[in-house]
Amino acid sequence: MALNNTDLIKIKLSHKDFSYEIENVCRIFFPNWKISFVEFDDFIDEKVNFISINVDNLKNNAIIISVSANINDKKDNKTETILKRQASEKDIELKVCVLVFKILSEITITKPKWGVLTGVRPIKLFHALSVHNGIEYSMDYFKNELLVSDEKVNLARNIEANQNKFLKSPDKKSFSLYISIPFCPSRCAYCSFVSQSVEKSIKLIPEYLKLLEKELIYTAKIIKELNLKLESVYIGGGTPTVLEPYQLKTLIDIVITNFDMLSCKEFTIEAGRPDTITKEKLKVLKNSFPNIRVSINPQTFNDNVLKIIGRRHTSQDTVRAFEMARTVGISNINMDLIAGLPGDNFISFCNTIQKILEIEPESITLHTLSVKRASNIFETGNDIYKNNKEIDKMLNFAYGSFPKFNYNPYYLYRQSKMLGNTENTGWAKKGFEGIYNIYIMEEIHSIIACGAGAVTKLKKPMENKIERIFNFKFSYEYINRFDEIIKRKGTVRNFYEEFQ
Ligand code: SF4
Repeated sequence: MALNNTDLIKIKLSHKDFSYEIENVCRIFFPNWKISFVEFDDFIDEKVNFISINVDNLKNNAIIISVSANINDKKDNKTETILKRQASEKDIELKVCVLVFKILSEITITKPKWGVLTGVRPIKLFHALSVHNGIEYSMDYFKNELLVSDEKVNLARNIEANQNKFLKSPDKKSFSLYISIPFCPSRCAYCSFVSQSVEKSIKLIPEYLKLLEKELIYTAKIIKELNLKLESVYIGGGTPTVLEPYQLKTLIDIVITNFDMLSCKEFTIEAGRPDTITKEKLKVLKNSFPNIRVSINPQTFNDNVLKIIGRRHTSQDTVRAFEMARTVGISNINMDLIAGLPGDNFISFCNTIQKILEIEPESITLHTLSVKRASNIFETGNDIYKNNKEIDKMLNFAYGSFPKFNYNPYYLYRQSKMLGNTENTGWAKKGFEGIYNIYIMEEIHSIIACGAGAVTKLKKPMENKIERIFNFKFSYEYINRFDEIIKRKGTVRNFYEEFQ
C-alpha cells in the first residue's frame, strides 16, 4: 500500500479512554498519516478511510469487541467476546489493540515484528515479566499476547540476559550524571533535536558554560548533602567536542573536583562529529579521565550519504579521528551507525558494517532512522519509506555479523516513526557495555541532569515511578531563565528527604 503523508484515517471509538493506545497501533502501519477521532455516532462517508471500534459491555458478564475498517477500499472486520470478570480495563484495551493490529496487518499485508508493542522500552517490560514469572512466561507473553515475532522475542531475551547483571538491586542512593552540550557545527538532515539556528547559538557557548558550571557546582552540593553515590557520567548533546580543548578541560575538571568520583564506573563523552575532533581535544579527554569512553559517530561510511544528510565530514575523517583516539591511548570507543539513511541501500550499508568491523571499536550502537516532523528530511519522507523493506535486510545483516566479531547486544530502545517499526540496539565486546545506556533505558536509578534540554529523572527505590525536573530546552532560554533552573534543581532535595 502506498504511503502518503497527506492521507487521513478517521477513528470512531466507543471507549474514548483507549484512544492513545489505538492511535499508537495505527501509527505502526501509517506513521505519518493524519489520524482523527470522531464521535462514535458520526456518519463517515464510504470514501474516507476509517476504523470503527465498539466495546459493548453486556449484562451477562460478557464484553463484545467489534472492529471494522475500510482503508483505501480494503475492508475487514473482526469480533471477539471476553468475560468481564476476567478482564481489567488494561486487558480489554490490549484485546482491542490486538484486533486493530490484526485487521491493519491483513489490510496492509504486513506483519510488524514488534506486534502491538509501541513503548520505548520493551526490554524493561520483558525483564519485569521475567522477574515475576520467569523467562518462558515473558517469551510466551511477548509472542502470544503482544504478537511479537520469534526474531524479536529472541533478541529481547538475549539482551535481557546480557544486561541482567547490571540490573540487580541498585543502591537506593545511586545515580548517574548527565551533562548537556546542545551545540553542533551544523544541522544533520535527520535531526529533530536542534531547532535553533546552530551557527547563531554557537556564539552562546562561553556564557552557557559559565552558567553550566554554576549548575554543576550547585548540583554537586545537593548530592553531597544527600550522600548520593555517582555511578556514571555522560556528556552528550549536541556535540560536546564542539568545545575548545580548554573548555573541555574546565568542564571535566568541574565534574571531577566537585563530585565524588570514587564510585564512578564510567565516564562517557560524545565526540559525535568527526569534524570536531582534534588530537589536542582527545588528549584532554584521556588526561582528564584515563578510562574515558568516547563515542565517535560515523553514522555511515558512504560519503555520498554523508553529503545528503548534511554531515560536513567524510568517512576518511571518521577513520582518522578513530586512529587519533587510539594514538592518544583511548581504549573504550563507541561508534554509532544509522540504518535507512536517505541515499543508502543494502549493499552500501553492508560495506559500512564491514568497515566498522575492520576498525573494531569496543562498542557499536546501531540506530534505525526515525523520521520526525521537526527534521529536514520529513518532507522527503515518501522516498525514505521506500527503504522500509530494505531495513529488515540491513538489520539482519548487521545482527548476523556483529556476534562473529564478539559483539553482544546489551541494550535496546525504540522510537516513534522508526523505519520498518524496528529498534535501536547497542552491541559491545564483553566488559565494554555502556552502563549509562542500560541505566537510562531500563530506568533503574536516578539520572540527575544539567544543561539546556536536560531532564532530571528521579527514581523512587523499589518503585516503578519516576519524577521529572525539566531544564529549558534551548541554550538562550537556559541563559535567560537560569534562576528558575536553579530553583527547580533544589527540589531534588525534597524528593530524597523521604529516603534519608
Ligand atoms: S550531531 Fe546530533 S544533535 Fe547535532 S545536528 Fe546532528 S543529529 Fe542533531
